[in-house]
This record gives sequence, structure tokens and C-alpha cells, in this order.
Amino acid sequence: MPRPIQARIALSALEHNLQAARRATGARIMAVIKAAAYGHGLLPAAEALGAADGFALLDLRDAARLREAGFRQTLLLLEGFFTPDDLPLAAEHDLACVIHHAQQLAMLDSCPRRGALQVWLKVNTGMNRLGFAPRDVPAAMEKLRSHAAVRDITLMTHFSHADEAAGVAAQTEVFDALAAPYRAARSLANSAALLRYPATHADWVRPGIMLYGASPFAEIPAQQIGLRPTMTLHSRIISAREIAAGESIGYGGTFCAQAPMRIGVVACGYADGYPRHAPSGTPVLVEGRRTRTLGRVSMDMLCVDLSALPDADVGSRATLWGEGLPVEEVARAAGTISYELLSAVSGRVPLVYRES
Ligand SMILES: *Cc1c(COP(=O)(O)O)cnc(C)c1O
Repeated sequence: MPRPIQARIALSALEHNLQAARRATGARIMAVIKAAAYGHGLLPAAEALGAADGFALLDLRDAARLREAGFRQTLLLLEGFFTPDDLPLAAEHDLACVIHHAQQLAMLDSCPRRGALQVWLKVNTGMNRLGFAPRDVPAAMEKLRSHAAVRDITLMTHFSHADEAAGVAAQTEVFDALAAPYRAARSLANSAALLRYPATHADWVRPGIMLYGASPFAEIPAQQIGLRPTMTLHSRIISAREIAAGESIGYGGTFCAQAPMRIGVVACGYADGYPRHAPSGTPVLVEGRRTRTLGRVSMDMLCVDLSALPDADVGSRATLWGEGLPVEEVARAAGTISYELLSAVSGRVPLVYRES
């Protein structure tokens, strides 16, 4: 028997969440599938999201794999190309490339064919990560518009606060003013802006996290926005024991029993992608019933409280997150976000695909 941990991927939930995005916008949908589709597995997730108008990712070879697998949608490299050598491959597979920096503009001369490249020019409107400063955009546009390799240009930006009260107004204003002189298509919205700010939808929206069934908003559960969980991290209890009052659990003895307790050991640890910094009390389901972690998460195991679950024993099912336990809730308890938990599920965890 293999170790009992699995990440179960509900393909129909991916489709469902894409439809939820579709209902929220008239714009074209660029499904973001970076980080192996937020841990769901690149090709199976892309197939389930096959009704999207485009796919955004980071790795040229991954994009080439999608093309070779028959995907005909726009495939966008979110960080563009890294060296001049990337350009012939990007052209060969008809990949759209973000250009966010002057050095990438200079590399365009390595493009082998006229009109081979779709470019998404990224503008820094306040995120201060990637993108041209507003004052440099007119010159970059000029260069792109006159470059033989460039077939068409989309203008894009990325929001820093779309999920918070500060919102998107200041960045949208800067972007709209810059884009006004051009007839280029526009793209601004991530999941949070797609759901909350219709005025930002423009020509292309770029949802990621909502497709994977998690809410981009701290205060609104995914279920309330009509999203379904797509990944359930599942394992089993592999040991159970009674401990006496005063005994501690695991490395460092960070949890000490106040009274006699029954505890179980789940085959899931930080080397599987479960966050090591999740404190005692992080929610977990055993046979569908809610309980809590106890003590430090170790590399391959974590401990849970079975005191109120007398029927639970070796072999009982444990759900670390997913159906019945929103990933956001576990993330919050561990001081992180759903994005990190989903994308950090490690290579040793088998992904098991289900139609329903
Ligand atoms: C990751 C990413 C997105 C998707 O963001 P979500 O919050 O997951 O919807 C959109 N645009 C860019 C540029 C990104 O890097």
C-alpha cells in the first residue's frame, strides 16, 4: 500500500468555478494556471478549464507542452521571456509574452519572424513589482508599435489591494489615463477585482484563485460567492494512543495535555506541503468530524485530538482541507493564505482526479 495521503482534484468543480467567473463578466477569461495550476496539475487542470479563452503561466516549456497537447487559446507568459534564446521558442509556439522591462524590449530583436509575437505590455500602476513606470509607457508603446516582430499589443496592469478596502480606484485611474490614447486591448482584473469591481473588467480578466474554489476575500467565504472546493487534501490516521495529563506531544513539547486525552497521528507533514507553522488548534476533519491539530507539525506526520471521537482509530480518514473544511480557514489558522497551501502541495503527494 502506498502512504495514504492524496490530493483529490474535483475536475467538475474547476469547470463550475470557471462558469462562475463567466457569469460575473462579459470579458474574455485568461485562466491563470501558474504554479502547476495552483497545485492542481498543469495539464489536467487546463483541460478542465478548457472553456477559458486563454491561459496564463510562467514557464515557456509548460506553455509549449500545452500547445503540443492541442490547446489553441492564447497562452500568456506572465513574466515574458528571460533571455533572447527564449524568443524563437515563443514564436514557434505562438505564445503571448508579457513585456515588463526595458531589457525585454531590447531582446525583441531576437525574434525570428515578422508579426510572430503577441505582446502584453505591463504597466506599474502601484504594485511596484513588474512593469514600466507610467512615464516610460509612451516610448515603450512607440517601440512595440514599430517593431516588425510584434503582431499586437495588449496593455495590462496588476492590482496590489483588490482584495482589501483600499481597492483599485487609484491604480485604475492611472491605467485608464495611460491607455486612453491607444486602441490596444486592456487587462487589469485578478479574481478579487473580477468579483468586486466590474469597472475593471475591460477586455481580459485574469482569475486564478477563484477557479480553484477559494475566496480572494478574507471576510467572505468561497461558498457565499458560489465557488466549490477543487482540491481536498486527504490522508489517514496511522497511529492512535492515550496520553495522561501533563504529557506533551511531538517535537519541542509545544502542546501539553491538561487532562487525559486520546490522540491520533495523521500521515501528512510539512514535506507534503502542510504548513509547519500551523499551531495547535488548526482545524482538521477526522471521518468528516471537526477536530484540531496538536503540537508541532513534523516532516511526515501531524497529531490530532481524538478525545471527542471515540470511534476514530488507525485507518480513519483525515481531511486536511477541501470538501467540508475550506482551505482559507486552515490558511488563516496557520497565518498564511490559500494560495500558498494549494501551490505548496509537494511532488510526493499523488494527485487523484475525479470527474465529480
Ligand atoms: C497570479 C496572477 C493573477 C491571478 O491572481 P488571483 O488572485 O489568483 O486571481 C492575475 N494576474 C497576474 C499578473 C498574476 O500574477
